Order: sequence, then C-alpha cells, then structure tokens
Amino acid sequence: MTAFSDNILQWFDQHGRKDLPWQLNKTAYSVWVSEIMLQQTQVNTVIPYYQRFMQRFPDIRHLAEAPQDDVLHHWTGLGYYARARNMHKAAQIICEQYQGHFPDTLEQVVALPGIGRSTAGAILSLALNQHHAILDGNVKRVLSRYRTIGGWPGEKAVEKRLWQLAQALTPATRVADYNQAMMDLGASLCSRSKPDCDACPVNTECKARLSNRQHEFPGRKPRKTLPEKHTVMLLPQWQGQVLLYKRPPSGLWGGLWGFYEVDTPQQVEPMADKLKLGEFETQQLNPFRHTFSHFHLHIQPLLLQLKSPPVADAVREDQQLWYDLKQPANVGLAAPTSKLFSTLTKTSDQQN
Ligand code: SF4
Repeated sequence: MTAFSDNILQWFDQHGRKDLPWQLNKTAYSVWVSEIMLQQTQVNTVIPYYQRFMQRFPDIRHLAEAPQDDVLHHWTGLGYYARARNMHKAAQIICEQYQGHFPDTLEQVVALPGIGRSTAGAILSLALNQHHAILDGNVKRVLSRYRTIGGWPGEKAVEKRLWQLAQALTPATRVADYNQAMMDLGASLCSRSKPDCDACPVNTECKARLSNRQHEFPGRKPRKTLPEKHTVMLLPQWQGQVLLYKRPPSGLWGGLWGFYEVDTPQQVEPMADKLKLGEFETQQLNPFRHTFSHFHLHIQPLLLQLKSPPVADAVREDQQLWYDLKQPANVGLAAPTSKLFSTLTKTSDQQN
C-alpha cells in the first residue's frame, strides 16, 4: 500500500460516511442507482429520491418492467433525464442478456447505456470489491491538485494522465473503502471553492497545497458563449386542469410530459385550432430563462383560459394528458413544467 492510500484509508476509517442508504446491504443494483443519481447531484438531495426509487423499483426486474413514465416520474426534479432513460434501457438489457443479474466484468458493464468507465469501476469495486480505479469529478479534483496536473480534465490528454495516476494510487486491498474515501474526500474536504487542506489526510504531499495553488486545479473548461433560443409555452387550462403532451422519446426532455410550444406569438392561434381548444382568454405569465448545458432557453408562458370544455382529440389521445393540478398524475415532468405548475397553483390560490 502506498503512503497515499494508507493515509486516505486511515482518514476513511475515522471520518468516512458509512451509513448512507446505498451503503447498507450493498448490491450492484443499489450502488448503480446511487452512482447514477449522484452524478451532478449532491448527496443530501439524492437521499429521498434514492429511497423512493428503491421502494418502487427494488430490483433490476422491477425497473425493467416498469413503464417509462413511472421511471421518469421518480426522477422528476433530479434533472439530466437521459440518466433515467438509460438506466431503464440498461435494466431491460440486463434482463434479456444476463437473466436479470448485474454483469460482473468491466467490459460488460461499460457496454450498458449510460455507464462510463468510472461508474463501472465504482459499481464493481464498491459492490463486489473488484480491483478497479475510479475517476469521477471529485476524484479528478483531488488528483489534479495532489500532483498539480494542469488543463481541463475534459481534454483527452489530461484525462489520460489522471487515469494513469488514479490506477497507480489505487491500493491492492480495500479497494471499495479506498474508492469510497476518494469520492468522499473530493465531495467534502477537497471542495471546489473552499478546500479544507488543514484537515486533509494527504496535505503534506499535496503539490497544490504546498505551492498554495489549490484554485488553479483542475483547469477550467474553456468558456464559450451559449446560444440564446426563445419559445412560447402554451398552458391551456380548464377547471384546474392543464393540457400536457408527451415529448418524443429522445432529444430535449425526451419522454417527459410538457406544454405545447410555438416559436412566435403569431403561431398561437393556429396551434390552438390544431389542438381544438375552442375559445379562450390569453394571459401572459412572467417569462423566465432555463439553461441547458448547450444553450439558454427564454420561455414566455401563455395561459389560455378555455371558455368551454375541451373537445377530446382522438388523434393525439395517447400522447395528451389533462393534468389535474390538485391530483397530479405519476408522470415525469421537465423542470420548467414543474415550475409553471407552482406558478399556476399560486395564481389560483390568490384568486380563490
Ligand atoms: S491538501 Fe487541500 S488541495 Fe490538496 S488534496 Fe487535500 S484538500 Fe485537496
């Protein structure tokens, strides 16, 4: 064992978290679910989502056999919905190809949708104690500081150096504890903006700390200006219900339920005719901006108060839903849709 991993493991024995829901009765499935949820999301936010998810989908078969709507419903609020769609798809593949048993080689796990090398290594090491290095965002931060490896870790050459270092430092024994400790260290002491170097178990050897350059590592992603896009969202409302449609399975908010959209206010009437909304009064709600990783979307919500009951639309029946704000359906919702529901609920509470 190197001095590095020795120090990390000693710290883990004293300070590491060992009682998180996914650390109890660990299986490859439970570690997989937690690892995917923890990508881009903080531990405290993940805990209730994880508990609800595991209650509804206690094993791979339950997940594989569930309707996609139900899976996305249990993900609503966590964002990055491709994660949920990929897990659902991967669970179906595991049932078809591995009789419902999580595969146990790195090659097989990496071949599943939505699982990269680091996540595969984390699942197999944490659940099965196999010897694999990991390199998630937290570990990248610790290692790039420890050895002052410059450049943005999204660049191939930088990532390659970090993988080499991660592999060299991973000890031969107690890999599960070590990997857990590295993720914990990056998420706690070696945080992005305020690293607590005095409490860090590897501070005497950390090059960034010794040269007081912690904030230079890891290198930042080259900045680029995000394009601005605009949309008008239509919120047809009838007696506390609003009209949603199911978005296509892939692409933006794929498989989630959302509001119909048009590009310009001039297209509102033709769209309303197409949807057979009849007569309505229009009210502009406050516009807001939603930012994706690759563009900003300026949203102008338009409330369409129908004057008579909506006509059933046989053509779009399967893909449409009159969503009752007081008795919400179990479907996955995009973040702006949930946000607009709160606005509508507040507006109607104020009117009552
Ligand atoms: S000494 Fe500071 S910068 Fe270096 S690994 Fe520890 S917390 Fe991170």
